[in-house]
Amino acid sequence: MVSVLWLLAIPAVAAAVFAWYLARRQALALCASRERYQLLFESHPQPMVVYDVETLRILAANEAVTRVYGHTPDELARMTIRDFRARHCEGELDHPSWRSPRPIDRVETVHVRRDGSTLAVEVFWHEIMYEGRRARLATAIDLSARKAAEAAACESNERYRQLFENCPAGIYRTTPDGRILMANPALLRMIGYTSFEEIVHLNLERDAIGEGRRAGAFVNKILASGELRSYETNWRHRDGSLVPVREQAVLLQTPDGPVFEGVVQDLTAKRAAEERLRRSEERSRALLEHIVDMICVVGAEGVIGYQSPSVQRILGYAPEDLAGRNGFDFVHPEDVAAVREAFASAITTPGDAQEVEYRFRDSGGGWRLIAGTVKNLTHEPAVGGIVLNCRDVTESKRAQRELECAAGELARKNVELNAALAQARDATEAKSRFLANMSHEIRTPIYGVLGMTDLLLASELTTEQSEYVQGLRCSADALLGVINDILDISKIESGRIVLESIPFSPSALASDVAMVLRVQALRRGLSLQCETSGEIPPLVLGDPTRIRQTLLNLAGNAVKFTHAGHVKMTVTSRNTESGQATLLFAVEDTGIGISADQKRHLFQKFCQLDSSTTRLYGGTGLGLAISRELIHLMGGNIGCDSEPGRGSTFWFEVTLPVCAREALPDTARSLTASNVGPCRILVAEDNETNRRMLLRLLNSAGHEVLAVTNGVEAVRAVSSTRFDLVLMDVQMPEMDGLAATASIRRLESILRRRTPVIALTASSMKGDREKCLGAGMDDYLAKPVSREEMLTKVNGWIARTGGAAAKPPSDCPDREQESPWGGASQPHALLRRGREESRGSAHVRD
Ligand code: ADP
Repeated sequence: MVSVLWLLAIPAVAAAVFAWYLARRQALALCASRERYQLLFESHPQPMVVYDVETLRILAANEAVTRVYGHTPDELARMTIRDFRARHCEGELDHPSWRSPRPIDRVETVHVRRDGSTLAVEVFWHEIMYEGRRARLATAIDLSARKAAEAAACESNERYRQLFENCPAGIYRTTPDGRILMANPALLRMIGYTSFEEIVHLNLERDAIGEGRRAGAFVNKILASGELRSYETNWRHRDGSLVPVREQAVLLQTPDGPVFEGVVQDLTAKRAAEERLRRSEERSRALLEHIVDMICVVGAEGVIGYQSPSVQRILGYAPEDLAGRNGFDFVHPEDVAAVREAFASAITTPGDAQEVEYRFRDSGGGWRLIAGTVKNLTHEPAVGGIVLNCRDVTESKRAQRELECAAGELARKNVELNAALAQARDATEAKSRFLANMSHEIRTPIYGVLGMTDLLLASELTTEQSEYVQGLRCSADALLGVINDILDISKIESGRIVLESIPFSPSALASDVAMVLRVQALRRGLSLQCETSGEIPPLVLGDPTRIRQTLLNLAGNAVKFTHAGHVKMTVTSRNTESGQATLLFAVEDTGIGISADQKRHLFQKFCQLDSSTTRLYGGTGLGLAISRELIHLMGGNIGCDSEPGRGSTFWFEVTLPVCAREALPDTARSLTASNVGPCRILVAEDNETNRRMLLRLLNSAGHEVLAVTNGVEAVRAVSSTRFDLVLMDVQMPEMDGLAATASIRRLESILRRRTPVIALTASSMKGDREKCLGAGMDDYLAKPVSREEMLTKVNGWIARTGGAAAKPPSDCPDREQESPWGGASQPHALLRRGREESRGSAHVRD
């Protein structure tokens, strides 16, 4: 039984032993596995910890933790994983989700080492049961290297992007069939776009942006060789224009298939610069072709390297004739030394130009004179030699020599001419003086003839005698007219005419002229009218004598050259601003008229339009010339409108200051004042005729006159008698007017009085007035003097001084007793009626 039992127990024991064995083996295996894991855990190169999910306490840590973080195992035993976290990463540990069960997970965070330094890590963990607790096995992988790599990649990307964005060349990526995948801003700008969106739908090939690519089979070439360098073509701009470009492209294989990546350089600016350069070169070449100067580059010894085309043109040498030859061989032997010297100076002072002038043999064997500069430009790489910049001066030197001769000749001629001119001037001067003197000389006897003729006419004559005397009178008148014209023109020519500026009435002047001519007009069966139109100023300041002379000439001509019809004179005034009036005097006639051709000769000296004029009408042909000169002297204009057979209108226009009656000077006012006098006047005049005329004129104005014949008598008269005025001829025998006046002034300084002395001069030359005033005279009358002028002056001075001498009771003796005086009753107080009087006023002439 026992054995049965034993037998029964054997399997049980065996089973138990087997079970123990198994358990033991399992335990051993487990132990081995645990050791293995322990070993793995311990020797793992990455830091690994096991921590409690609830308390976060470190349950186990491998050696790598101590190595990487620096904590000792003892310290680790007291730490939680919170102590590993950098402060800013701690928060997530408190998040409820942190502790929620997750079999496996990862997190990127920042750990802090024992020494405080931080460490970017990626922590992997999986949940385990450790010693009966919920725990996590966590492995930290150092991310520093990866992060650095990532940062580097990122930076590289950014750099590439910047490059792509800012690269001045265009960059693109396209599919081989032309679809644009990428394009940088420079490329967009190049073809006229601003954003990639605008071109994303475009195709480089289909839309012909790469305009010139097809002809060059760009795509085939790049597909064949994998890359294309310096491919020059045209791209089409958005506005249709072509942009010259240079492309380089490579074929790249990408996961999406082959692509082209290329760089495009805009060549517009380069092409423009090239074009400019080309033009500039062309210009330089053209200039060099046509330049007058000859340019040669030679070596230090004189061997010719380069010659400008002008050398062949000027000296006849083709480039091959001179290339390699020594230039000195062509220089005239006498000039070689000078040229060598210039060369030596040029070589020692590079850049400085040395002047040279030498003779050079031309291809025909003749000598040409060459002048210019030598300059050492050996240091200039583009030149590399000594530059001769010269020109052929053979002809110009010859011309200069000729010119110098001609200039010398000219200077000689000039001297001769100046002498001739001076002679001519002297001759003209002499002629003018001669004419003036002759006119005076001739006029004096004519006045005598006129005066005597007047006396004769006043006497008892038979009809026949009267006719003869009338004829005599007409001839004398005509002669006087001619002489007066000649005197006027000689005065004008020598610039000795002096214009007066005295108040006068323009309308009175015109009607005065009309009155003078009316008798003559009526005699010819013509009507003569005088009209004024517009507001004529009552008084203007000017030279009434010369205006009257001009008007008389025009109107006289009108009467003379009109056979039937009328002569009409009109005075019009345009009152201009600033107290000036522009007066237009016009004389219209219905006479013979003047053709356009003849009109061109009018107003010229000695011009009579028809050769028969002198015969038919008389005259000198000087009247209009004198009139024009006088009006021009006054700053006016003169002209004529005419039609042959229908008549003419001669006119002149002068602008004169308007004269206010109140503003008139004393002398002028006296002209308009009614009565001055009677006064006592001394006349000193050697010419008897003139003396008589003056007597008559002054007597007729109511004055008492004593007439003497020279200066001595005049002084004597003033010393014994008090006069209101003295009229003193300048040229007199024994003592002239100037000396007499000086004596009178000396005498008067003792007598304490001052008698106005008016000079009468014949020459009416410039400077006479000054001479007279300098001698102590008060005023001046140039002969011929009109009655009006004379009385204006005389009355003016008498009004100014009061004319006390003749007024009773005065210190003057009784008129009758003053026998030596030429009083009103004097037999020699003659009345003269010359040509001038027939024109309306008596003139005193010498
Ligand atoms: P003169 O009258 O002494 O000949 P002028 O100089 O006054 O000299 O005139 C020059 C010429 O102009 C006259 O000879 C005449 O031929 C021409 N002429 C002048 N006025 C008139 C006129 N009103 N009608 C026609 N011809 C005139």
